[in-house]
Amino acid sequence: MARKDLFAVLAAFAVFLFLAATAPRAQVNTTAITIVGGELADGTGAALRRANVRIVNDRIVGAGQDVKPLAGDTVIDATGLVVAPGFIDIHNHSANELASEPAASSQVAQGITTVVLGPDGSSPWPIGEYLDERRKSPASVNVAVMVGHATVRRLVMRDDYKRTATDAELARMTALVEQGMREGAVGLSSGLEYEVGGYADTRELVELAKAAARFHGVYMSHIRDEADKSFEALREAIAIGEQARIPVQISHIKLGTVGVWHKAADVVALIENARKRGVDVSADCYPYNAWSSTITVLVPDKRYDYPPSVEKALADVGGAQNVLIVRHAAHPDYEFKTLEAVARTRGVTPVEQFIQIVKDGGAGVVCTSMVDDDIRAFYQQPWVMVGSDGGIGVRHPRGAGTFPKVLGRYVRDLHWLTLPEAIRKMTSMPAERLQLRDRGRVAAGTIADLVLLDPSTVVDRSTFSEPTALPIGIEKVFVAGELVWDSGNSVASSQKRPGRVMATPN
Ligand SMILES: [Zn+2]
Repeated sequence: MARKDLFAVLAAFAVFLFLAATAPRAQVNTTAITIVGGELADGTGAALRRANVRIVNDRIVGAGQDVKPLAGDTVIDATGLVVAPGFIDIHNHSANELASEPAASSQVAQGITTVVLGPDGSSPWPIGEYLDERRKSPASVNVAVMVGHATVRRLVMRDDYKRTATDAELARMTALVEQGMREGAVGLSSGLEYEVGGYADTRELVELAKAAARFHGVYMSHIRDEADKSFEALREAIAIGEQARIPVQISHIKLGTVGVWHKAADVVALIENARKRGVDVSADCYPYNAWSSTITVLVPDKRYDYPPSVEKALADVGGAQNVLIVRHAAHPDYEFKTLEAVARTRGVTPVEQFIQIVKDGGAGVVCTSMVDDDIRAFYQQPWVMVGSDGGIGVRHPRGAGTFPKVLGRYVRDLHWLTLPEAIRKMTSMPAERLQLRDRGRVAAGTIADLVLLDPSTVVDRSTFSEPTALPIGIEKVFVAGELVWDSGNSVASSQKRPGRVMATPN
């Protein structure tokens, strides 16, 4: 609570400094834009209201009906559009791609203005070096980064990671997490369903989470199981938060197997109970009933060449027809075919085909294994935000469609949630979660990261066969007052690189 007050004071002070610094030279070097006639969704969840928004350089200086353009302002007519804070994607896999594709078109076209990188336990390293590179060659979007648990585990244990860590190794990992946090990471991420992180015991995670907590970070986890053992895995994540006294963010919350379908109410009850005890648990959710990962994730006991385990794994997701192969280096001709279709063509059983694919180096798969009523129940919780688990070039439609899909299909078509609430889940919620200052709200003094969208047309167009198709209805996107996406003129806007680095204040 005290920290929140401190931020309010710091924010007010920042506005003061800004005004003091810009006032004397307001005549020179000033760009002013006034967006007029739009409906404002200010990010807090408050009802839409008619408001003009005035931007001077990188900041919003006013938002309201009485805000008028001054002489010399660029005026943008937003009649019929909703003006919202830029979307903050709390789970984004673009860490490597930002260097080669800094325009990040597939991200800004969704309204994303900030990407949080390094989720699922895997992050760039060293954190400081990565952030310096982003400062030297900025992207169109802002970046924040997590310290990856598996990344530091691998640095310490190298190839000998298939066991619990010794005290000495844990001490070295702790030092690395501290280093990453000191260098600007906003938290610790783990991916406990994956190869390296999965061998860690709870004690290891508690100790490392404590290190992140000392720097006011969050603990963000792809939990140990998203299938039959979902509840145990959730309890572990909650216990880590409780013992390390750190906010917990459950990544891409889901019920991903036949045995736990339709149990969202039980998940909600478990998390609500923890919240009542004072554990600060929240989650993010992507709007798709299919996940994408490596094919081995299907087999929780990791016995990838043991037919009974593989058989159960395929049954758990409703059969091999629900497993779409999207990447398989050894046989690119399998890509975009289901495991069942490939097996049938080759005259083997799906179990045999699965084992062969793992032997041949594994594959990326998209697996249809969730049900919509669970997704709806999650999105209707006030502590669940929108996150893509996508990123530049991700071979899943969520990589290019997440935010417009929620706005078009779940808000406009299905009425699962209101537009202001959906926008809150994309803006102020993730901003507060990660203590990203001056972001996530439209108010005087905040940074001008803004989205202008058409609520009557906004929708995703990416599909499993065409995962990079861009959405429609996101009309204009500003980052720090610079236009980075203009549906009418994407070429001109894609030259701008105003994205900044965001680090937790220590
Ligand atoms: Zn994940």
